[in-house]
Amino acid sequence: MKIKQETIQILNNIKSVVGGFDKNNPIYLHEPDFRNTKALDYVKNCIENGWVSSAGSWVSKFEEEICKFTGASHAVAVTNGTDGLRLALYLVGVRQGDEVIIPPLSFVGTANAVSHLNAIPHFVDIEAKSLSMCPKSLEQRLLDVGEFNDGIVINKETGRRIAAIIPVDVFGIPCDIKELNKIALRWNLPIVEDCAEALGSKLSIDRKIVHCGIDAQIGVISFNGNKLITTGGGGALITNNNDLAKLGKHISNTAKIQHDWEYDHDQVGWNDRMPNINAALGVAQLEVIKERLLKKKNLYDKYSYAFKDCQFAEIIKTQEDVFCNNWLITLRLKNRDEEVIKQLRNNLLSKALKEGLFLRPAWKLLSYLPMYKNSPSGDISVAKFENKRIINLPSSPQLDDL
Ligand SMILES: *Cc1c(COP(=O)(O)O)cnc(C)c1O
Repeated sequence: MKIKQETIQILNNIKSVVGGFDKNNPIYLHEPDFRNTKALDYVKNCIENGWVSSAGSWVSKFEEEICKFTGASHAVAVTNGTDGLRLALYLVGVRQGDEVIIPPLSFVGTANAVSHLNAIPHFVDIEAKSLSMCPKSLEQRLLDVGEFNDGIVINKETGRRIAAIIPVDVFGIPCDIKELNKIALRWNLPIVEDCAEALGSKLSIDRKIVHCGIDAQIGVISFNGNKLITTGGGGALITNNNDLAKLGKHISNTAKIQHDWEYDHDQVGWNDRMPNINAALGVAQLEVIKERLLKKKNLYDKYSYAFKDCQFAEIIKTQEDVFCNNWLITLRLKNRDEEVIKQLRNNLLSKALKEGLFLRPAWKLLSYLPMYKNSPSGDISVAKFENKRIINLPSSPQLDDL
């Protein structure tokens, strides 16, 4: 009975923010938004001049605009975020049989990108405040199983090389890259930051405001349909490293040597380049991204206000030195008996869905998926605990218009 009332109260709080909906007019988690953009004109331009595929001026323009917006020296636009992660891992030296440290709380693409190189994900716990990789757990895990051998790190338990670390900016909340970098440096490990969800998220590092992904060797953004801006499907590598950027562009473009007519390739490459028509969509939305981020912030403030006195749930707050893009605004059920949390969560999700409101639980932990259940793993008790009590709320920028 009590859970029923709590469910209704939480749903009423959400409804006070998102306004009217019903089964025929549902509210989704995050919808693409092309209003007030020149998307149609730019796509029309591609169709009229025939440049729709993996060469064309919109791709370079998109890369330039990504650099301007994020402050990165280089951007490489690719077909999607998963491919981008795989390419980035390859660029920092991950090869078959290596282990790559990732958090168990992420979209499956993070782990799949590792597997696509025939490497093995190795799980390290998250921290409750950012929901991203916990620096202390990373350090502890490396101390427990890591061993330096000729300058490379070997996992004593498996005999495999540990080759890279992928922290994830979960729901757009920046990971603690500053602390993670210190540990990575001590262990001589590169960081590929999965900032797929974090376009527009920044944090303050040594009094400088830095976009997510920039302080890693490579950051990888996704422009999938549910992300802050979308190119239909797409992604981008961002980096300040000239050599990595150059090699990334080369390998993503079938490792083709530039020549006016010869087809000459100097290594095995991928066909990872973003098509021009997709890049045109990206340019159109980057032109309005500042307004969009403001809308998201307003929506976040409205949710925070709606839940400020709620006894059993809170909106996740970010640290003070952090600017979050609020990609998916997240509710955390306050800690109580595990069985109560479980019932409340399931009640909320099913009741909301029946009414036409799309709430979403966090991903099933990657370490529970059949293909990753035997992967090496440190203690991941924080991820297990948090995973059961976080729920993403509808976060489309359109919802701020009400
Ligand atoms: C979306 C996403 C990806 C993958 O991006 P795609 O463009 O969908 O391939 C990877 N990691 C995280 C955390 C994501 O949210």
